[in-house]
Amino acid sequence: MCRCAVQATIFRNKTPTVDALECCDLCNPRLFDCTRPSKPIAATRQQAAKKGLPADSVRESLYSWRQAIKKEKYPRAMFSPQAILDDETCEQLAAIGPVRSQE
Ligand SMILES: [Zn+2]
Repeated sequence: MCRCAVQATIFRNKTPTVDALECCDLCNPRLFDCTRPSKPIAATRQQAAKKGLPADSVRESLYSWRQAIKKEKYPRAMFSPQAILDDETCEQLAAIGPVRSQE
């Protein structure tokens, strides 16, 4: 049975007067050809950041930053500053070489 006719019955509307060629997939199965998905888009992989020796000054700046954020935003919270930025992430960020451009 035509999908539009079923919906018209359910919602107590007048019977649709749409041409069968443009009505629904049951009236015209070729309408499915208009809705077929395209081929999947291949995902691009993100390049890994270049790593070097961790810079002590960067690591200390990250520790200070997370402590300042904890103190400013969550002074009464039970968690430690490490919950905002853990030591491992600080170490990884400190090991990334100099950033040459904003991009
Ligand atoms: Zn139909």
